[in-house]
Amino acid sequence: MAASTLPSAPLTARSAPELTPHWIGGQPVAGTSARLAVLNPATGAALREIALGGTAEVAAAVASARGAWRAWAETPPLRRARVLNRFLALLNEQRDALAALITSEHGKVFSDAQGEVARGIEIVEFACGIPQLLKGDFTDQVSTGIDNWTLRQPLGVVAGITPFNFPCMVPCWMFPLAIACGNTFVLKPSERDPSASIFMARLLQEAGLPAGVFNVVQGDRTAVDALLDHPEVRALSFVGSTPIAHYIAQRAAAAGKRAQALGGAKNHMVVMPDADLEQAADALIGAAYGSAGERCMAISVAVLVGHTGEALMPRLAERARRLRIGNGMQGDAEMGPIISQAALERIRGYIEDGVASGATMVVDGRRHPVSGAPFTVAGHEQGFWLGATLFDHVTPQMRIYREEIFGPVLACVRVPDFAAAVELVNAHPLANGVACYTRDGNIAREFGRRIEVGMVGINVPIPVPMAWHGFGGWKSSLFGDLHAYGEEGVRFYTRQKSIMQRWPESTPKGAEFVMPTTK
Ligand code: NAD
Repeated sequence: MAASTLPSAPLTARSAPELTPHWIGGQPVAGTSARLAVLNPATGAALREIALGGTAEVAAAVASARGAWRAWAETPPLRRARVLNRFLALLNEQRDALAALITSEHGKVFSDAQGEVARGIEIVEFACGIPQLLKGDFTDQVSTGIDNWTLRQPLGVVAGITPFNFPCMVPCWMFPLAIACGNTFVLKPSERDPSASIFMARLLQEAGLPAGVFNVVQGDRTAVDALLDHPEVRALSFVGSTPIAHYIAQRAAAAGKRAQALGGAKNHMVVMPDADLEQAADALIGAAYGSAGERCMAISVAVLVGHTGEALMPRLAERARRLRIGNGMQGDAEMGPIISQAALERIRGYIEDGVASGATMVVDGRRHPVSGAPFTVAGHEQGFWLGATLFDHVTPQMRIYREEIFGPVLACVRVPDFAAAVELVNAHPLANGVACYTRDGNIAREFGRRIEVGMVGINVPIPVPMAWHGFGGWKSSLFGDLHAYGEEGVRFYTRQKSIMQRWPESTPKGAEFVMPTTK
């Protein structure tokens, strides 16, 4: 899309930033607590601010959700689906405005933000099928005159805690299905890009969702702890970094709450010697540097098998150097800024560590690839900028291999053969996504079967499952038993009940003292 056709970012820097409110009981609520600025990472300018919610705001949101729950749970699934259908239509109408809002607070390029909104919309489409998804099982005549059936019922008030990197899509992994199942919802979005949540709250209201069914509390860990501690919150869905995911899962379990806590990632892409190297190079560049590497499905490790490295490295280096980096609202930008100054410094620290530990620096994102000057974007010097960094000869002992960097840094590891590649991937504790590029069907099949990772791509670099398949990693990338969305999502947001029913004949049989068996 040409720059001139892009919608403008909805709000720009101004002297008194407007407030992105909480959303409680179908109303925006300002809140009186301490404020936090929401920055445009491309300019460093304050766009808006939030009031950091705490126990009081969480209590009000949960009370509103609890108050709305019984009537919403009693609303037939088809009528709940009709509200979601209207929400879907509104989301489709407003998708570019929402994408522009995301770009302004997150920094990702506009086309990528459009893609995020599209993937969120797919979950809403899936949730619209809830009458079919909630259909129970029935067995006629389990014993003479007795039938048995199972149904799934909503849990009550459930909460979602989401990361900065997908402010529309990740909440959409949660609330559409949760409310379709008959729950009411409290969302605690990331404090870095909070406005997409309120944008969607307004659309839900316009779609006819009753007040209190969907609530938002802005804030940080204080609001999260208040949700974890609130006795009326029955289940928590979390997406974010592994240490916090682990904390959420443990604390929720201690309080007897259901939790699904999706954590960080270190996604590998194995490139076999028989792969199409042009395709593999393009895939690696897009998957490593798209969204500045701030995706939980970004590829951060390339595993180059046999002689692949010799042919692939020059292709990667050339592409990394000519990446177009800039304000995501400029139509030709391929990569935007980093989310914050703190994240920028963390990523630079990893790059320094990689150099110190002996990895070969092929492209240094801290410097401009032509001039060698410190990397920045002209006209946006206050933004949080970093170029693409490419390391070769990384080893499994290095911190840049072991830890999630969550930035535009690609680490290339060389291994002798397929078996060594599989062993390397399977030894990493983070197991969210993985990809293998090959033209050999048997290698592809073996890879899919042997690899110990939750989401696998064969010649697909970012294999984010479709709405009806469910999303989740293995090992330290997911704490909990059920993946997000898909049928596992329906199971997460409901509990099963079995009903056995008999209408006895009028002749009394008297008490029976043996275990009931089929008669
Ligand atoms: P984060 O863990 O810092 O924050 C996630 C959420 O937790 C936010 O809402 C934040 O306010 C809250 N939070 C932060 N610190 C907390 C604490 N000490 N106690 C309680 N709550 C706290 O993550 P982020 O920086 O927003 O997002 C990036 C991370 O999310 C990366 O690690 C990325 O891999 C991960 N992620 C994972 C998936 C997945 O599906 N597995 C998807 C997207 C992002």
